[in-house]
Amino acid sequence: MNVELLIIGSELTSGDKLDTNGQWLCRRLASLGLPVRFSTLLGDQWQDNLLAFAMAAERADLVVTSGGLGPTQDDLTRETLARVAGVELLEDPASLETIRAMFARRNREMPERNRVQALLPAGAEALFNRTGTAPGIWMQAGRARFACLPGVPSELKLMMEEQVEPRLRSLGLVNRVVLHRIINLFGLGEAEVEAKALDLTAREHTPEVGITASDATISFRIRGEGPDEATAFASTEPTAQIIRERFGVLVLGEGDVDVPHATVAALSRAGLTLATAESCTGGLIAERITTVPGASQVYRGGLVTYATDVKSSALGVPVELIARHGVVSAEVAESMAVQVRNKLGASIGLSVTGEAGPNSSSDAIPVGTVYVGLATADSVHSKLLQLGREQPRGIIQSRAAKHAMNWTRLTAILRG
Ligand code: ATP
Ligand code: MG
Repeated sequence: MNVELLIIGSELTSGDKLDTNGQWLCRRLASLGLPVRFSTLLGDQWQDNLLAFAMAAERADLVVTSGGLGPTQDDLTRETLARVAGVELLEDPASLETIRAMFARRNREMPERNRVQALLPAGAEALFNRTGTAPGIWMQAGRARFACLPGVPSELKLMMEEQVEPRLRSLGLVNRVVLHRIINLFGLGEAEVEAKALDLTAREHTPEVGITASDATISFRIRGEGPDEATAFASTEPTAQIIRERFGVLVLGEGDVDVPHATVAALSRAGLTLATAESCTGGLIAERITTVPGASQVYRGGLVTYATDVKSSALGVPVELIARHGVVSAEVAESMAVQVRNKLGASIGLSVTGEAGPNSSSDAIPVGTVYVGLATADSVHSKLLQLGREQPRGIIQSRAAKHAMNWTRLTAILRG
């Protein structure tokens, strides 16, 4: 497989601009198992373009070009390719419509000049440009398959990934698969996770491992590579194994598995059921748990007991207990958990009471203070979370719900 690049632009040959597209394409193509054999940097001269395109059409199987798709006189790629393939340039109505629509979205008339960007060599396929105007070109010329991409680096990358690579795959030309395996954790900060995984995230580590955080869930991203999907996946397994061993029960699962899914799964494995009594999270736990398919096997139901007197009237938390300790307290959280467990007939009762802000009802209890209660047949415990007085309400609620579910998950794992 002979792969060749044509990197076009006089601003590149003059030295005014560094060619970064060529570097990116070389890397990307190599990762697909299609290493580049030749790469030519050329200016916007007609004769030079003709020569370079003709040579590539003769000796390459795949040619990727960068630049020369703009609307100006010096943008020659369309014409050159048509000439080398020995076909005419034809206006592609669909591309013209796309270009018009792009201008319309920016509240502008399409300048007549841009019309040339809808011209395609006869027999060519337009490559959709999601972020710019000029479509790319996909066509056969000589023995080579050409993929002509815009010079703007962001447009080139997107078009390569979204338009060209699927076509290469369906032609059976890609004999290398690159995938990313995601392993999610909850219960440690990003920095703590990173500190425990410096050997894995080191630059020279193979496979490449990255860490990202989203709403307190920390994710390892392992890059796998191989001639096929199974081999690429297998190349990530030793690293995945190390992560699972090192982080143990903190590991939630892979891919889209976050705290709610892992909680339902753990309850289900342990044969336990859950009931919830929520105050400051307002039903968020119930909502998240019931979003998971199969939640009906483990979730009995929940009460949103928001007002203080409802905690007594609906749930049965003693009025004196609330009077003595305050509604945001360990005692009330524990009582809520015990009561909801009994009322709904579940193996685990889970409760949340706290201050989600932006203002606290009591000076003694800062915003972000949340008590979580957890009751089983033979025990009741509570936990104090300090989720940060500067945090917005939504974050405090979301974190409280996640921590509460995670505690349930860990309890189910221990008891299962
Ligand atoms: P269009 O984006 O309209 O298709 P084009 O394909 O002709 O235009 P150019 O006008 O040549 O692209 O370049 C657009 C921008 O992209 C310029 O800022 C240019 O410097 C930059 N660019 C072009 N080629 C490269 C390259 N090989 N590496 C890095 N930047 C490039
Ligand atoms: Mg150009």
